[in-house]
Amino acid sequence: MPEGYCVKCKAKKEIVDAVEETMKNGRKAIKGKCPTCGTVMFKILGGKAAATPSAPAPLTPQPAAAPDPAKPSTTA
Ligand SMILES: [Zn+2]
Repeated sequence: MPEGYCVKCKAKKEIVDAVEETMKNGRKAIKGKCPTCGTVMFKILGGKAAATPSAPAPLTPQPAAAPDPAKPSTTA
């Protein structure tokens, strides 16, 4: 059972009827009720969305010695 902070009880409580929701920004949150007073509790789960990475970052480095005639080097 997830725990959250009840603003009415001013204490940490178990969240009853907890339902995991995904917000528009992709973050997950737990929505439920305080077992003592019934106040709606909303706990935002930290971290990023648990989405599977679709495109892994390429490890091949870009060629640094590529000649660029439009941009003459002035570091010489
Ligand atoms: Zn409460």
